[in-house]
Amino acid sequence: MKILVLNCGSSSLKYQLIDMDGETVLAKGLVERIGIGGSRLIHETAEKKVFEADIPDHDKAVAMVMEALSSKDHGVIESIDEITAIGHRVVHGGEAFAGSVVIDGAVKKALEDCSALAPLHNPPNLIGIRAAERLMPGKPQVGVFDTAFHQTMPPKAYMYAIPTELYTAHKIRRYGFHGTSHRYVSQAAADFLGKPVESLKIITCHLGNGASICAVDGGKSVDTSMGFTPLEGLAMGTRSGDVDPAVVSFVMEKEGLDVKGVENILNKKSGVLGLSGVSSDFRDIENAAAGGNKNAQLALDVFCYRAAKYVGSYAAAMNGVDAVVFTAGLGENGTLVRETVCGYLGYLGLRIDTEKNKVRGKLADIGTADSTVRPLVVPTNEELVIARDTKELIG
Ligand code: ADP
Repeated sequence: MKILVLNCGSSSLKYQLIDMDGETVLAKGLVERIGIGGSRLIHETAEKKVFEADIPDHDKAVAMVMEALSSKDHGVIESIDEITAIGHRVVHGGEAFAGSVVIDGAVKKALEDCSALAPLHNPPNLIGIRAAERLMPGKPQVGVFDTAFHQTMPPKAYMYAIPTELYTAHKIRRYGFHGTSHRYVSQAAADFLGKPVESLKIITCHLGNGASICAVDGGKSVDTSMGFTPLEGLAMGTRSGDVDPAVVSFVMEKEGLDVKGVENILNKKSGVLGLSGVSSDFRDIENAAAGGNKNAQLALDVFCYRAAKYVGSYAAAMNGVDAVVFTAGLGENGTLVRETVCGYLGYLGLRIDTEKNKVRGKLADIGTADSTVRPLVVPTNEELVIARDTKELIG
């Protein structure tokens, strides 16, 4: 069975074609700059090919992906008929979706209703679903939501201390994101430790450009650092994470900005980019800090300190922790960040082995033998989760 996984952004489309017999990736790629000129498709099989073309919309992007997958020259299937189903990453499922679903008319309506909560993400996800429907009519499609895993959070974790009417009227609450990744790595960590996930308290740190931490108690998310939007929580590549909400109106007044202006600062110009003035990429920041750049060092310090505070608070929330998992680009590769974050956690009984911590991008236990909490590196694989859910749901 071959499943096509699609992840549609406003101007991009990422895809993977996965053969579920053996769970191998047959092809993957990215369509960039849809509708904004200079568009191209980067298609990877054994080799990488780049196709520049005018790609005005997602229909054209999906059509190009189908063409690339079934091309005589660089394709991996004879015809599109070989694709059994399509799995879509969907950012926001609101309170309507606590798990993945087969997409039908009612689901699309519910997704439209959630769009107000994720105006940048859900509309392109829906456009991708409709484009795939038009171009591959009759094939089952499944939606896998970033928010779904966190629907098990109890009200004390998801409610903001603002008037309850704002929740009732507008559904303002904490939702959490990266759920597909937190679900996958917590289960993979339990498998690695040889224990049922139901018996473990795990703190998963998804540290990429966007970053979030999740408390997984017995296999269920009980708290997570992102909230109503992905802006809450950790300092990220370009997002501020937690700030005093009063900063928003103060900055608007002092800098003469409107709501969009201040949102732009908090989402695109803050985080380690804003602090360092160097880059949103941790490799650049680490290099600059090593070269003596104090602001770059400060960005690293703030990032790691806040990550450690979240881990500590989730150990308290769960009254204990068995494993701390690092995943995503920085979590899987960032030796220095892992060492610095774990450096704060000695009081929990967590001790990192600096030799073992040199690992990059591989499943590994990086703790010392006497560490009572296991620090683990677990590579994430959101596409595989989407493909597995799709396979399971279509039976
Ligand atoms: P996203 O999917 O959110 O865009 P990724 O999960 O790809 O992000 O993570 C990107 C981050 O991972 C970047 O900040 C990058 O610097 C960091 N990263 C990747 N490789 C390394 C490395 N070897 N050392 C330190 N940071 C790394």
